[in-house]
Amino acid sequence: MTDYRNIVILTGAGVSAESGIDTFRAEGGLWEQHRVEDVATPEAFARDPDLVLRFYDMRRAAIQTKVPNGAHLALARLDREWAGNLLIVTQNVDDLHERAGARRVLHMHGEHLNAWCTACDTRHPWRGPLMDRPPCPHCGANALRPDIVWFGEMPYRMDDIYAALGQADLFVSIGTSGAVYPAAGLVREARAQGTATLELNLEPSQGTRWFDEARHGPASVLVPAWVDEVLSGQSG
Ligand code: NAD
Repeated sequence: MTDYRNIVILTGAGVSAESGIDTFRAEGGLWEQHRVEDVATPEAFARDPDLVLRFYDMRRAAIQTKVPNGAHLALARLDREWAGNLLIVTQNVDDLHERAGARRVLHMHGEHLNAWCTACDTRHPWRGPLMDRPPCPHCGANALRPDIVWFGEMPYRMDDIYAALGQADLFVSIGTSGAVYPAAGLVREARAQGTATLELNLEPSQGTRWFDEARHGPASVLVPAWVDEVLSGQSG
């Protein structure tokens, strides 16, 4: 573990599971009692905006009642203490990495606590509901939507992600099922360029075979242990 300098970490819903935020496919393919295609696609929003806005209003309110767990805190410690490059690429749309204190975080699938105005293409910190169609603070149009990358939309900042990955000597995937692309493909990019790869997940994921090493168990246990290992290697 002592030879690494540049680390890219991909996190998914499993990192926030122990904070009480449901993973995507926890129960029989439903997400919080909804089919994904009914709430997390642009088509769903066009068809039934009230349903989609209500769903995200509830999620936005819910995450504000949750707190970071040991995995978030350990990654924030790594961010503070790691002298090399580090990028935490998260698929999560909650703010628990930031609330734990991490700074080098990139939200590739957007953020619950942002609203996006589709009229003037500005983004705004947002904690309340969108259901009642509040005006955009910038242009006044009633055209705010959740700043969430839905299925069929392009994830954010892929150029920055690939640039960081291109420099990485270690790629670590934490709490993600390896089912949602392009995030699920990052391990193969890393592998193709000779970067070491490690999976930390509750159980083998769909991508486990692509990793050099896989450790299975709860993120709140695995991640602090791994961070200790990495930081002790740095000082040693
Ligand atoms: P996913 O639900 O597909 O997979 C979650 C993975 O985490 C599974 O492999 C599961 O075994 C593992 N896991 C569950 N509990 C764990 C724990 N305690 N410790 C370690 N691993 C655990 O989620 P995904 O791979 O992130 O992809 C799905 C999509 O869902 C993403 O696009 C994301 O934007 C969205 N999503 C985000 C949140 C959030 O922001 N917290 C929550 C649900 C879904």
